[in-house]
Amino acid sequence: MSAQTTATIITIGDELLIGQVIDTNSAYIAQQLNKHGFAVKQRVAVGDTWNDIWQALETAEKQSQIVIITGGLGPTADDITKPLLCQYFGGTMVMHEPTLAHVTHIFEHILKRPMIERNRQQAMVPDVCKVLHNQRGTAPGMQFEKNGVYFFALPGVPHEMKGLIDSKVLPVITQTFPQQIIIHKTLLTAGIGESFLAELINDFEAQLPSFIKLAYLPNYGMVRLRLTANGTHERSIKEAIETQFATLQQLVAPYLVVNEDLSLQAVVGNLLLKKGRTMATAESCTGGYIAHLITAQSGASRYYKGSVVSYDNEVKQEVLSVRSDTLALHGAVSEPVVEEMATGILHLLNVDYAIAVSGIMGPDGGTPEKPVGTVWVAVASKKQTLTQKFHFRFDRQRNIDLTAVNALNMLRKLIIEG
Ligand code: ATP
Repeated sequence: MSAQTTATIITIGDELLIGQVIDTNSAYIAQQLNKHGFAVKQRVAVGDTWNDIWQALETAEKQSQIVIITGGLGPTADDITKPLLCQYFGGTMVMHEPTLAHVTHIFEHILKRPMIERNRQQAMVPDVCKVLHNQRGTAPGMQFEKNGVYFFALPGVPHEMKGLIDSKVLPVITQTFPQQIIIHKTLLTAGIGESFLAELINDFEAQLPSFIKLAYLPNYGMVRLRLTANGTHERSIKEAIETQFATLQQLVAPYLVVNEDLSLQAVVGNLLLKKGRTMATAESCTGGYIAHLITAQSGASRYYKGSVVSYDNEVKQEVLSVRSDTLALHGAVSEPVVEEMATGILHLLNVDYAIAVSGIMGPDGGTPEKPVGTVWVAVASKKQTLTQKFHFRFDRQRNIDLTAVNALNMLRKLIIEG
């Protein structure tokens, strides 16, 4: 397999180093480069410091054919990137008349504000660059070339950066550099921890050809396994990855949820659609979060009828018909209560399947018998109700996430089995 064209991404700004702004730009750029068959060699964030930016450029130039820089181009005084680029590529700053006309137009007709000298400076560019017209803002992008390496300097504002990546950068690099074909195959497992999974597929991973890589992507008690193959001959890498993926599926068969890159709620939705069945939820401790996950899927109205957020015991009794003596005897976080919540919502909304959850999410509200993180989940069909108790030991949000994932997984199994 031939060597891949590599790229380095440099994001500039003191705000990135102190964590005030999360560097979403380099994530977007990396995704786009990857999708188009370019390997990202390094992602670096540097402050607005001359020497650091200079050094980052020198390193990038040695290791990559493509260098993408974002940030530091705006009209503020601390923006040193443009003069630095001018010196780095050996040019002189000149006024770029089409950009000046564009900036003037924005101020006169869109912002309807007087333009000051600082704004005029936005149209100054090194005379050694090709200007990339920024339709979405005032700071233009710039393209440079040095020793066969292509450099692109883009504004830091994410929306403007994305516009320039899509309309200017990708067309240039896809035409200039050979691209590799990248194929991903992903499956989702549940009920096995990452380290046990690693033991199980250790030998499989060791025998993979060098152009196929395995990645573990754990999330809330589920592990996604992704095979990535890259090369230049589409047919041969496709065949190779399909063969390896089939073996991987066999190895993890007892834990396999789906052999596609799908969320658990999408898997549940697809199962219900296939069977022509409906569902509803009765949520106490998750406050409608499971409903939110389900309805985030487009087309959920075909199988999801609704939810009762029965946070208060009165709602559990009056809307879901949970009996007061069940509540008094066992407490709201108990097996009999989630069972009654599940059957209650099943009948109330006249659906085929139901999920009910009740728990103590923390940080307050725990007792010695029911510590924070105690959750009861019930899943029900018209024929049966299954329950399970969980002990999550995390913060409130993570406990909510884990409750949702486990409840959806229990429902998935119930739908498959019955
Ligand atoms: P402008 O024309 O707006 O001044 P600029 O090139 O000077 O553009 P910056 O001043 O560095 O860009 O950043 C503008 C805004 O874009 C920042 O306030 C920040 O919110 C956002 N931003 C900058 N870099 C990033 C990044 N790497 N990821 C996400 N957002 C970013």
